[in-house]
Amino acid sequence: MKKLTDKRTKISNNKINILTKFPENEDFEIVVVGAGISGAVIAERCARILRKKVLVIEKRYHIGGNCYDHFDKKGILIHKYGPHLFHTNYENVWKYVKKFSEWCKYEHKVLSYVDKKLVPIPVNINTVNILFGEHIKSENEMKKWLEKKIIPITNSKNSEESAISRVGKELYEKMFKFYTKKQWNLWPSELDASVMNRIPVRTNYEDRYFTDKYQFLPKDSYTKMFNNLLAHPNIKVLLNTDYFKVRKKLKKAKYLFYTGQIDRFFNYRTEKGRERLPYRSLRFKFKTYNKKYFQKNSVINYPEKKPSFTRIVEYKHFTKQKHPKTTISREFSKSKGEPYYPVPNPKNKEIFERFKKQVDKLKNVFFVGRLANYQYFNIDQTIKNALDLFKEFKKNIKE
Ligand code: UDP
Repeated sequence: MKKLTDKRTKISNNKINILTKFPENEDFEIVVVGAGISGAVIAERCARILRKKVLVIEKRYHIGGNCYDHFDKKGILIHKYGPHLFHTNYENVWKYVKKFSEWCKYEHKVLSYVDKKLVPIPVNINTVNILFGEHIKSENEMKKWLEKKIIPITNSKNSEESAISRVGKELYEKMFKFYTKKQWNLWPSELDASVMNRIPVRTNYEDRYFTDKYQFLPKDSYTKMFNNLLAHPNIKVLLNTDYFKVRKKLKKAKYLFYTGQIDRFFNYRTEKGRERLPYRSLRFKFKTYNKKYFQKNSVINYPEKKPSFTRIVEYKHFTKQKHPKTTISREFSKSKGEPYYPVPNPKNKEIFERFKKQVDKLKNVFFVGRLANYQYFNIDQTIKNALDLFKEFKKNIKE
C-alpha cells in the first residue's frame, strides 16, 4: 500500500477538538447530531469544503458510531459493535475514504455451522457438496441441482420467498430460516425480500462474502479513520450529550443534520398518534482465550435453532493481528438497546412514511444515514448517502 501523500498526511495530522462542556458562548452555523459514519462525513465536508463551523453532538462516549473499534484489555483490536467490513463498487466512496486512512486488503469469508459441518456461506458448489454429499464439479451441474430444488417465484414478496426461489426449501431450512428468526425475532416471511437478497447464491466456487471491487479495512483502526475525518479546526465534538437535552440551546444554528432514529426526533408522534419504529439491537459476549486462534475464520455463523447466538466473530483475523491470545464475541440479537438495524417490512415502511411526511415539512433540517432514513445501509451506502446529500446541500446554499 502506497504511503499517504503529503496532502493526505496533513489531514490526518490535525487534532480532533473534543469539548469538555457545552459551548455556551459559541455559535455554530451547522449542528450535526451523531458522530457515526453519516455525521462524520457531513461534518468533514461542511467544515472543509464550505468552511463552516460545525458542532457534532454525540450521545456516546466515543466517535465512530457502530464502527467504533478499540484495543481490549489484552491489546487485541476488537469491534465493539460487531464486525464491520468495508466493501464497495462506488469509485467516489473509495476515493473519499482513502484520504482518511491507509487501508489493507481484506476479503471477507464466512463459514456456517450446519449439521455439525462447516460450510461456505453464501451457498456455493462446496456448500452443496459438503451438506448433501454431492459431487458437483461445474457451474452447469450446480445450476441443474438448484433448478431441481427451487420453487420458482418471480418478484419475491418476502425473505422466505427470496430464499426458496434461489436455494430451495432444504437449504432455506438449514441455513436461513432460524438464523433469521434469531436475528430479527421474525420469520423470513415477515421481512422484506431485500433482507435475504443481501446474501447471493453462487453457482461456482466463489467463497468470498462480497465480490465488490474494493474490499479493505483501515490499517490502524476505524476509530483512527473517524478521528482523521473529524480532525478539522472548524469541527468541535461534544461527546456524552443527548441532543434532545440541549436542542433548546442550539436555536441559532442555521442547519441541522440529524443521524439518529427518525421516530425519536418527532417524539414518536405522527398524524396517527404515538408510534414507534422497531430497531433491532445486539448483545455481544466477548471472551479472550489463551490460545493463538479460536476458529479458522473471522466469522462463523450458527443458523440452527440452537445455540441462541447467531455468529462468533474472531477479531484477530481481520487485520492479521499477531498476539499470543485471541478475543472472540458471540452475538445475540435483542429488541431493546442501542439501535443497529431498521426492520424492513411493509408495516414499518408505512410507519416510516408517516414520519417522513413530517421531515419533508422541515426547512434546513436533513435526515441522513441508516437510522434517520430507516434503511439497511452498508458502510459504503451510508457514506454515499452522506456525500450525495452534501452535494445537494452545497448546491442549494450557493443558489
Ligand atoms: N442470513 C441468514 N443466514 C446466514 C446469514 C444471513 O439467514 O447465515 C440472513 C439473515 O436474515 C440476516 C440477513 O441474511 O439478517 C443479512 O445477512 P448479513 O450477513 O448481510 O447481515 P449483517 O452482517 O448486516 O448483520
